[in-house]
Amino acid sequence: MGFRPFVYNLAHEYRLKGWVCNYSGGVEIEVEGAETTLKQFISDIRDKHPPVACILDMEVRDSLPLQGYRDFEIRESRQEENLFVPVSPDISICHDCLRELMDPEDRRYHYPFINCTNCGPRFTIVEGIPYDRVNTTMAPFRMCPLCSTEYHDPSNRRFHAQPNACHQCGPTLKLWDSSGKEITTHDPLGDTIAFLKMGKIVAIKGLGGFHLACDATREDVVSQLRGRKYREDKPFAIMCRDLEVIGRLCLVDGLSRDLLQSKERPIVIVPRRKDAKIAPSVAPFQKTLGVMLPYTPLHHLLFAQGVDVLVMTSGNVSDEPIAFKDREALDRLKGIADFFLIHNREIHTRCDDSVVKPLKGAVTFLRRARGFAPFPITLMRDGKSVLACGADLKNTFCLTRGHSAILSQHIGDMENFETTSSFEQGVELLKQLFRVQPEFVVHDLHPDYLSTRYAVGLDLPRIGVQHHFAHALSCMAEHGSEGPGLAVVLDGTGYGEDGTVWGGEFLEVYLNGYRRLAHLRYIPLPGGDMAVREPWRMGAAYLERIYGDLEGLEIPFTKRVDRERWSQMRLAMRAQINSPPCSSMGRLFDAVSAILGVRDTVNYQGQAAVELEQMVDEGEMGEYSFETLEEHGTLIVNPDPVIEAVVEDIRDKESPSVISARFHNAVARVIATMARRIREGYGLSDIFLSGGVFQNHVLLGRVWDILREDGFRVHTHHKVPPNDGGISLGQAFYGLYVQGHINQQGVIG
Ligand code: ZN
Ligand code: ZN
Ligand code: FE
Repeated sequence: MGFRPFVYNLAHEYRLKGWVCNYSGGVEIEVEGAETTLKQFISDIRDKHPPVACILDMEVRDSLPLQGYRDFEIRESRQEENLFVPVSPDISICHDCLRELMDPEDRRYHYPFINCTNCGPRFTIVEGIPYDRVNTTMAPFRMCPLCSTEYHDPSNRRFHAQPNACHQCGPTLKLWDSSGKEITTHDPLGDTIAFLKMGKIVAIKGLGGFHLACDATREDVVSQLRGRKYREDKPFAIMCRDLEVIGRLCLVDGLSRDLLQSKERPIVIVPRRKDAKIAPSVAPFQKTLGVMLPYTPLHHLLFAQGVDVLVMTSGNVSDEPIAFKDREALDRLKGIADFFLIHNREIHTRCDDSVVKPLKGAVTFLRRARGFAPFPITLMRDGKSVLACGADLKNTFCLTRGHSAILSQHIGDMENFETTSSFEQGVELLKQLFRVQPEFVVHDLHPDYLSTRYAVGLDLPRIGVQHHFAHALSCMAEHGSEGPGLAVVLDGTGYGEDGTVWGGEFLEVYLNGYRRLAHLRYIPLPGGDMAVREPWRMGAAYLERIYGDLEGLEIPFTKRVDRERWSQMRLAMRAQINSPPCSSMGRLFDAVSAILGVRDTVNYQGQAAVELEQMVDEGEMGEYSFETLEEHGTLIVNPDPVIEAVVEDIRDKESPSVISARFHNAVARVIATMARRIREGYGLSDIFLSGGVFQNHVLLGRVWDILREDGFRVHTHHKVPPNDGGISLGQAFYGLYVQGHINQQGVIG
């Protein structure tokens, strides 16, 4: 992290004597000098350390015997078996390197792989520990004398910068045509820029995988990319030359600006300007754009020659994981990319771009990957190492070591060979990098999840955790809480402990368990997973329950529904074939979206709800109301009156934006009403909001306001996503607790 050179230079500045040394548990410094100088030295370590370093803990001892050191030196690293230093995430290019990159006098002028201890690839190039060049994909490159001098000079910014390289000795670019034939050229980058300007699609090898890049202002080009990638509507991320270009396209507030410029450089979701000059196909039906700034030297060079905005979407076909090896990329992206800009620095581990969304001065992750993984999250508990396998959609897994929860990068949907092998390799890699062997395994209760099967296949003590309880636990883990509290967990689907499909849950939570106090009223999920892809099924199921028949209902939805398919589905539902009861809030959003005519079918996860959110009329304060019933001591939230009110408003020709707003307001209101009722009955005033539905910032913002006004302590996600990408953290937290409470029969005591 450039920490030792920093300390070395600082000590020299203050004329202090002693030494600094890396050991596997961190950095150790012994230093002698006048007391006031030492104090200043210590406070400078705290305040002025390199931006990429992060001091997790610092201990100062002042009772060492005086050694009379004559100099200050960097000592040889010490290896200790049981200690470890977290492997750093990949870091965007630093200011110093960027300056050199653009300086014609510098020996690394326009060198696309310039880096130093403050920046560059880390996690994606590491093959093993210790983090030394031989254990990275830079091993084949032998440093030239100049690079080697920098590497060995403690006062140099490149002292022990493992990926250090230059034009003479480092990786180089190459350009392939669409069939993988090398194009002979002196300037692969210049040619790439020319191709992009001509409207070509280029697969560009980045830090953690390939991007598909093209001119984001040309509709013909972007829609061609959509066609080739089999991706109909899911928004593409764009990369802009600088903040000024982003400012022309989007409304960027202070927090968004900070996030965009942070060393992690995530994709940030920001509101787009109405007059943004961007191809409509970049983000159809969206009021927002996912934007990022260049984060590698190669990106900066791409934008240095007259390019302003590029689509930069993951190099994959539909939902497969991102391609990251040259030949593999060629195989999989053949037919999509016209050219491939590759290089000979191998990517060892794939790692997608991270995606974040700011709200009320705080950040929500939608995807936690590059820049963040595998940086540990600190937990309040420790114990034997736990492997938590996560859930099957948006999978991440989590490995614990002491108090550290090491969350994997976003792995993806566990539905194909690529993803499952990525999962398995990921587990092996993190075990190795963090020198840890899990002794306890946690998984979802869903018996058919591939992540569950993986867990069952390991010969280790294990436990299943209910999906929504795990969501709640992940939020509790982030906030260092062990309960009691009320968890409001709203998502698409999760396996309930009674075998039904849950997803609209109010749980009284403790670290050791939960009680289901309330939930959304059950409705059949017509066709099981098919209902997730076809929201019209949910719309029809609700209308059927309320009105008995769709025939008499004079709204556009009922006219659109295919009668044939509906009557078949109805029969199946009545015979309870492939129609499990579900209490999912995500599916209620789907139903409203379909009835309102926003989305009958989706072509990416959550599309119906996303587009319903996008159309909300922010000024509308009206709301519908849910009904609350009590059944056998459990509160039931009945959405039928809300659906009826939606139908009424459609008949009255109310605008869809107003209807959507009233629906969002109703959901926010019922959460608050239930919370108040539960507080009266159970005294719970800490609230944890989790589940994929809380990616909806209109809803989250309104719930937050009402609950805070009502005196609740509201906790949301800031370190892991509220969606299933955060589940493994909650599972790991539970694993640390429960391992101490299991008796020999495997029963929790
Ligand atoms: Zn740098
Ligand atoms: Zn060199
Ligand atoms: Fe979930």
